Amino acid sequence: FTGRAYQRADTVVDVAGVPIGGPAFVVVAGPCAVENRAQMGDSAHGVALAGGAILRGGAYKPRTSPYSFQGLGRAGLRLLAEQREVTGLPIITEVLDVADLDDVLEVADILQVGTRNMSNATLLRAIGRSGRPVLLKRGMAATIEEWLLAAEYILSEGNPDVVLCERGIRTFEPATRFTLDLSAVAAVRRISHLPVIVDPSHAAGRTDLVRPLALAAAAVGADGIMIDIHPDAATALCDAGQALHPKELAELTADLGRLLTAT
Ligand code: PEP
Repeated sequence: FTGRAYQRADTVVDVAGVPIGGPAFVVVAGPCAVENRAQMGDSAHGVALAGGAILRGGAYKPRTSPYSFQGLGRAGLRLLAEQREVTGLPIITEVLDVADLDDVLEVADILQVGTRNMSNATLLRAIGRSGRPVLLKRGMAATIEEWLLAAEYILSEGNPDVVLCERGIRTFEPATRFTLDLSAVAAVRRISHLPVIVDPSHAAGRTDLVRPLALAAAAVGADGIMIDIHPDAATALCDAGQALHPKELAELTADLGRLLTAT
């Protein structure tokens, strides 16, 4: 179902009125993890001011270490729902486990499947049956073919609303946390009709590389980007080293606007 042979025209996924895969370049942004009401409120305000279209925030966090902050769970979902009321922005948040799916469905306008769950067939099938739009991140060690087969699990359950997200793959290079595979974006757009967005924050793991990688994602033909922000990155409980300040997000969206109108 994911191939151009099945469907020639680009899929446009409607996320509570925000089209992903159409002519508009979509900016998704927010904190890596939902931490508290003030942090979520400041972040949501910053995303709205910067012209972001969708608000992100992790309530269930798949951390590398079990001793790191694991997210606020349902309390985090409630804070996300509050900010949707305040800003009107649709919400994306990760579902880590089938057991949490019903709770996440109450809040998420688009579900996120993280890199560590890309090949969790049980979760993918359950999300497929839910019918809710889904952002499917590429597994950090997955080939493009494996990534598209993961998408097939969702589509084959009758859910056509899949957005792919390139978020970097594991290579021998330690200068960045992962290696952002922008060639995958160009390749997938040829193979598949599904929209593709890029997450330069989790790929690089470094604030200073987010802007150039985001601009490169737009130049290579991605349908959007997902960016981590934090009002006070020094205190962030999750991935502090990669979060932009909301003001830097606004500068980035202005730069993206200039780039996209020039091309
Ligand atoms: C995230 O976006 O919050 C996240 C954990 O990303 P990834 O699954 O790409 O590591």
